[in-house]
Amino acid sequence: MVRDRIVPANTLFSPPDAREQHAGPFFVTTFFPGIQRVNAFLRNCHRVLLESPDLREVFPRPFFTAYRGAPTLENKLSHKVFTRHVVPAGEPGLNPCGNQRCKLCPLVVSSPDFTSPNTPFTYRTRGRPAICQTTKVVYRLECTRCESFYIGKTSTQLNQRINNHRSACNRGLDQPPVRHAQTHNLQSFDECYRVRVLDSLGEDATDMEVRFREQAYQWALGAFRPPGINVYS
Ligand SMILES: [Zn+2]
Ligand SMILES: [Zn+2]
Repeated sequence: MVRDRIVPANTLFSPPDAREQHAGPFFVTTFFPGIQRVNAFLRNCHRVLLESPDLREVFPRPFFTAYRGAPTLENKLSHKVFTRHVVPAGEPGLNPCGNQRCKLCPLVVSSPDFTSPNTPFTYRTRGRPAICQTTKVVYRLECTRCESFYIGKTSTQLNQRINNHRSACNRGLDQPPVRHAQTHNLQSFDECYRVRVLDSLGEDATDMEVRFREQAYQWALGAFRPPGINVYS
């Protein structure tokens, strides 16, 4: 409860003994106005607890106190659910996050093998398992109407990057994926494309590494020549 130690100024520092895991007893307050005073009260009475043999028998260790906060309008009205994005273990590749409001989930291509119309090879997705919110990935947009594809990278969450593509389509911006969707008379990104992760580098990767990896895939899969739609700049 009270762990401050007052020592003379000339005392050399000696680290406190390692604490054993506290096994209680625990003292949990419910909220009431004036709760702050309990702290002072406990501090004043602490010595009594420690020095009285009777009480030491009841409380062999000092007890822990936890203060419950005041109820707020927010936690009265809403039931907070903390969504933890659980990345599945195992196979590399993109997996739907399963969040009902996620716009990327319906577009996910999760099979681990892929090809390019510009090369004779079959490739396997590399890196760590990814979900819609994973950062530092190289992805490929695959046209649902033809063989065209676009390879990009993101250092932020993949779903945010895809949102950018989506809104670029809605606004008719002059960008390769938008221009390609327009050749099919589509203004909707979701109608035109599916999304595949080619490589998931992991959070520790630098932006430079992600960029180099993106370029490696663009060259290897022939993204700069049709039906690839990347523009070499
Ligand atoms: Zn999702
Ligand atoms: Zn197409």
